[in-house]
Amino acid sequence: MKSTPSEILDYRCRLENPTSLGRSGVSQIYQLHGLQAEGYKILQELFTNIKDKLFNEYGVRTYSTKNEIKVAIDGVVLNQYLTKDIDWLGIDRFTLEIILRKEFCLKFNNQIEWKCNSRVMKLIVNQSSNIVKGVKYRSKKNIDSSSLFDIYGDFIIDCTGHNTSSSKWLKESLNLIVPTVQIHFGGGAVTFIGERFRTGNLTFDSAAVIGVIANPPKKNTSFILSPVRQINTTDQNSLGILTACAITCVNSEYPPNDSYENLLEWTKENLDPEYFTVIKSIKISSPIIPNRHAIDDRKYVEVLGKKWPQNYVLIGDAMCTFNPQYAQGMTHACRQARELGKIFGENCHKLKDISHIFNRRASKITEECWLASTVNDWKIPTLKVIETNKNGQVKIYQRGYHSDITNNDEPRTPLKIRFMQWYNYWFFQCASKSEQLATDFLFVVNQSSNPLILMKPTTFFRVIRMAFMNYLKEKGLFGRRSTS
Ligand SMILES: Cc1cc2nc3c(=O)[nH]c(=O)nc-3n(C[C@H](O)[C@H](O)[C@H](O)COP(=O)(O)OP(=O)(O)OC[C@H]3O[C@@H](n4cnc5c(N)ncnc54)[C@H](O)[C@@H]3O)c2cc1C
Repeated sequence: MKSTPSEILDYRCRLENPTSLGRSGVSQIYQLHGLQAEGYKILQELFTNIKDKLFNEYGVRTYSTKNEIKVAIDGVVLNQYLTKDIDWLGIDRFTLEIILRKEFCLKFNNQIEWKCNSRVMKLIVNQSSNIVKGVKYRSKKNIDSSSLFDIYGDFIIDCTGHNTSSSKWLKESLNLIVPTVQIHFGGGAVTFIGERFRTGNLTFDSAAVIGVIANPPKKNTSFILSPVRQINTTDQNSLGILTACAITCVNSEYPPNDSYENLLEWTKENLDPEYFTVIKSIKISSPIIPNRHAIDDRKYVEVLGKKWPQNYVLIGDAMCTFNPQYAQGMTHACRQARELGKIFGENCHKLKDISHIFNRRASKITEECWLASTVNDWKIPTLKVIETNKNGQVKIYQRGYHSDITNNDEPRTPLKIRFMQWYNYWFFQCASKSEQLATDFLFVVNQSSNPLILMKPTTFFRVIRMAFMNYLKEKGLFGRRSTS
């Protein structure tokens, strides 16, 4: 934490083990992370000087969604002609983690005690009153020792991420089964860092963030570039941007990470030529780091009502993990944390009720992100869905050739999801022609607006009208077909 900004970048590019920097268990730390506008806003509210520090000490900048970002889905550019701009923070996850830790220590130094290199092993509970009172942990440095230490708390926030053992702990100590749904969509990514050079194509050279979103089953690959630092250079061909580049997939169509040459070859075959040109022009300055088998994984804590224990909550990925392509996870965690702060701040709730109130409110945040993340995932040809109900019964559904081998039933896309797939398609067609709809959409994507604004009556009728007119054109009943 005492490292200088350039040392941090150097650690990042040399893949220094995060444990040595005091943070372990976050293998995704080297993957490209975009922080959505609402998450950035929450961090600025918590740490008022953070923006100045990022800009002045770390060469970080924000980028205008209106002018410096090109993002497309299925050929539709999403951010043309916005009515309001949105800032995109160009930073890498590794640097962000370290800065946040530093800021946290500065702000709360005498109120916190770090227990690094420790692993929580189980919950300490009072079964008869359904209360979590603390945790038992062991030191990772002393793996041979079976000794566990106790730590007690009035309120325990479990933010143990996507590999959380919370379900296991609750079953062991309170015989509580948490209903879950896991959606396996074959998600994967490779990320590297490099300096951007001109391609000669002004559309892309003027864009700091470039992205194309997978659109399964037609297009199962995607990519995104997002700046991590500005750099000083005298090279006329350099854009002066150090960027993170992530090449991602669904349906297990993983990009290779054995060499840059093979990755470029793969990119040439799997992405559009103009994106290949952009990627080819990057001078790579880090290894290529893979991440595979990302899943959507949700715990339906809210359906347990008062069966859920008092004084214990899950936050962030521990409650729900999303398809990383939509960059929702960090902002989802920030929003849940803000909600918990709000509940305590309301000063009118009894401590024993807070976990239940939180579960109800936090699950609304989760539901928004869950829908945004899973609507497209339900289109994956090799989709696998694992459902565990509150009695602990597990049902596995699977599509594609694996279903013949495993004898699992095919998953049936829920009606709500089918409607949303249909609605989204026509919404994008409208948004490509409407400044207001494109702006509304990007505010929702950044978790700054409630998704329901995409279905407000005027928008809803516009989308329905577009779909209906197209239907008439297809049937030859009205003019000629305009979109496909
Ligand atoms: C490839 C990839 C790309 C992603 N891209 C984005 C993106 O662009 N934007 C975005 O917002 N999100 C992205 N995410 C998601 C994001 O990384 C997570 O949503 C976010 O880190 C969740 O934060 P968290 O605090 O809940 O968990 P984490 O950041 O995972 O932290 C969990 C912590 O708990 C610790 N822990 C676990 N078990 C124990 C235990 N038993 N005892 C003690 N400690 C324990 C772990 O060691 C770890 O330090 C991406 C994820 C992946 C995999």
